[in-house]
Amino acid sequence: MEKVPLDEYGEGNCCPNCESMKVSVLYQFPLSVEKDLNTNREILRDLDGNKIIKPSNRMLANRYKVSQNDAQLWVYECRKCGWKSNPFVP
Ligand SMILES: [Zn+2]
Repeated sequence: MEKVPLDEYGEGNCCPNCESMKVSVLYQFPLSVEKDLNTNREILRDLDGNKIIKPSNRMLANRYKVSQNDAQLWVYECRKCGWKSNPFVP
């Protein structure tokens, strides 16, 4: 694969500082959580809005997955030299 240093638009596949391809993208996603005002315990609901009393690990893992939508902000970071891009927003 040809190395293209990341540019100011976030185009490219390697670090503009050291040309390493060990570059991560750090995303921030919005996550909506419903909690009881008084107990501070999280209230989980299924797609129909019904309360889920005992969520399975699989269900919690799935929620984690689907929360990775609509990134609000992201930053590129080189795992070799530590270079960081400016933050990107949609
Ligand atoms: Zn680097």
